[in-house]
Amino acid sequence: SKAQGRNTYRYYTESLTRAANARLLLESKLRRALEREEFILHFQPQVAMADERILGVETLVRWQDPEEGLIPPDSFIPLAEETGLIIPLGAWVLRQACRQMRDWRAAGMPTMTLAVNLSIQQFAQRDLAVQVGAILDEYDLPASCLELELTESMIMHNDAHGIDILNAMRELGVGLAIDDFGTGYSSLGYLKRLPIDRLKIDKSFVQGIPEDRNDAEIAATIIAMAHNLKLQVLAEGVETQEQHAFLREAGCEAYQGYLFSPPVPAEKIEALLAAPFRP
Ligand code: C2E
Ligand code: CA
Ligand code: CA
Ligand code: CA
Repeated sequence: SKAQGRNTYRYYTESLTRAANARLLLESKLRRALEREEFILHFQPQVAMADERILGVETLVRWQDPEEGLIPPDSFIPLAEETGLIIPLGAWVLRQACRQMRDWRAAGMPTMTLAVNLSIQQFAQRDLAVQVGAILDEYDLPASCLELELTESMIMHNDAHGIDILNAMRELGVGLAIDDFGTGYSSLGYLKRLPIDRLKIDKSFVQGIPEDRNDAEIAATIIAMAHNLKLQVLAEGVETQEQHAFLREAGCEAYQGYLFSPPVPAEKIEALLAAPFRP
């Protein structure tokens, strides 16, 4: 009936309004969180398969909400990207991570690299390499100690411009890694044209090893292919001995995952560096 139609319509607009309001609320909370610097960085060790040495750390941001506690990035990075807040947030992350790295180096910590995730909007900035160079200078860090993590789709969506930015970054001397590798659809020929250093095998493939023959096959193929292209390979999301053994056997040089350590606050990294580990 007509009345029913009206009710459905009203219900629909009301729930849309509610969703829009919830988003607006979260957006203003996120804006305020940035002003108040309510974010904290955790770091996850990146480890050599050969000797279990910590080669570097990946920076992973969390939101410390005064009411709700620690909020994981998947709950706010997408909104930060939609609203453009990822630009100041991403700059904050890079600066804080570099500051931490400077402090670690000043304290005489063993040499390691600092990996930082970039989002597509940061990557689209024409002056990105200049910004990154300025932050490295500010904290007296050699470009070689920084590795930026990008995804295949970020580069593809930027096309010619994307390769220019990669080249500018390469000239600066920072390392470049392709994150979540295997979930996009880069061709071999395409990868070969990119000035990148490392592939990170997505954890969705690692998770199935060794039971899922397809996942194991894909991981082994990515490793062989990467080596043909003279790229290094890091497997992410390594949780078990079996996954570790399989990947090591397949020639993977480095890994990250709960087997070694989850992402942890900076102090915990210092403790991990002090205490050697054998899985
Ligand atoms: P990512 O870059 O692929 O990071 C890996 C995610 O896997 C992290 O989740 C990490 O905590 C989790 N992880 C690590 N080891 C294991 C494991 O053994 N098993 C499983 N199941 N998971 C593991 P997290 O910290 O929640 O971050 C989620 C995503 O948020 C990241 O995925 C990245 O895309 C994004 N992100 C985090 N920090 C930043 C940032 O500063 N900037 C940008 N643009 N994105 C960020
Ligand atoms: Ca990453
Ligand atoms: Ca990843
Ligand atoms: Ca991911």
